[in-house]
Amino acid sequence: MTPNVVSSGVTLAVDIGTFYVSAAVVSGFFGCAFIAFHVLDRSTSGILPWGIAYLLVTGGLVLTLYEPVLPLLIHGPVAHAMFILAVVLLDAGTRRETRSVPAWFGVGLPAAAFVLGLFFSYAIPSAPARLEVLLVGIAAGTGMTAARLMRRSREAEEGLHTALFTFAVFYTVLALSVVILAIAAPLVGPIHSLLAPHPIHAVLLPALMLFLIGAGMSKLWVHYMRAYAEARYAATVDPLTGVKNRRYVMPEFERLFQRAQREDRVLACMMLDADAFKSINDSYGHRKGDEVLQLLAQRITAVVREYDLVGRYGGEEFIIVVSDLGREDVVGMADRIHQSVRETPASGLRLTISLGVAFLSSEDERADDLIQRADRALYRAKRAGRDQVVVDEYEPELSRRSGPTV
Ligand code: GH3
Ligand code: MG
Ligand code: MG
Repeated sequence: MTPNVVSSGVTLAVDIGTFYVSAAVVSGFFGCAFIAFHVLDRSTSGILPWGIAYLLVTGGLVLTLYEPVLPLLIHGPVAHAMFILAVVLLDAGTRRETRSVPAWFGVGLPAAAFVLGLFFSYAIPSAPARLEVLLVGIAAGTGMTAARLMRRSREAEEGLHTALFTFAVFYTVLALSVVILAIAAPLVGPIHSLLAPHPIHAVLLPALMLFLIGAGMSKLWVHYMRAYAEARYAATVDPLTGVKNRRYVMPEFERLFQRAQREDRVLACMMLDADAFKSINDSYGHRKGDEVLQLLAQRITAVVREYDLVGRYGGEEFIIVVSDLGREDVVGMADRIHQSVRETPASGLRLTISLGVAFLSSEDERADDLIQRADRALYRAKRAGRDQVVVDEYEPELSRRSGPTV
């Protein structure tokens, strides 16, 4: 095909028809990929609307391409409503990212585009007015999504932030391009057809292609980051209590241990075990036992500082690693955990705990040595009648008990 020539005489080095075919193929490819993703993994929310939206764009582009042989209703109002519906579905597919519910916009925007398309096709036939409606509709829809994504990307956690920001940038590029075109088109000269040469194509076509590829890739990227974050969370957090699991705690403790040794910092380890927990299970059932464990984890995390390491070491046993806190303060923290559990009945039941506390000493070679000593202190607490805090006797002047014995 020969290059299209705009009415002002400026040659446009892109053939519009070929461009539409390429964009339709790209859009169709992504649409099928999104739908395949949805079929393979139904938990990937938002992918299905994106698959449908991309296929709608393919459909709309094909109808536009066949404009000369199709009735006005099909290549006009119907094709335009398909584009706008695609914009709405894309927005719906980002709902999880933007935490929004596009209630009015979901139905209202495509319906308005269709009705106005009919109006400017038959009541007052005007192709430029109909195409202006299309541009305004796309600008409104993509602009709204772009703003939401930008807002959300600012508060997103690391990792997801970059993916969401890139996603938002592609949306913004399309939205801004279409806003500029919606304003400029009537000034540059009326557009009589999306196939006819017009200067707006110099911006519209690259912006569309950039969006289809860039936003499609960003969408997959956001999903990948989310799946990765969820897998990471599941691998490091105890599902019952919400504190870190042993798999996470051990290497992290080892890291803190190495740092404390290297920099001569104070490091403490507490081992905490619920007293007579088996009898709670035996008397009230396992489910009640689970509830009590959850409340116990809440009591612990309410007392410790945000950056202290709390993990479920096993069954009804927890580990707490405290860095950079004076010895008396660590013992005070252990006492507060002990008292807090003692004083507040968990799920209607009175629960007591025993704690063993140990501090990093020059003889410890690995984090495990510290755990061993905290464990020994815990064992002594149990032997001494439970419901108390025992500090490892390695530092005899700090070793003491607190709390009454049962
Ligand atoms: P002690 O004071 O000596 O620690 O007595 P205990 O009964 O707490 O100790 P023991 O080790 O005999 O029993 C621990 C119990 O904790 C046994 C097990 O059924 C229960 N347990 C471990 N994990 C869970 C859990 O995830 N949920 C519930 N409900 N119970 C658990
Ligand atoms: Mg126990
Ligand atoms: Mg135990």
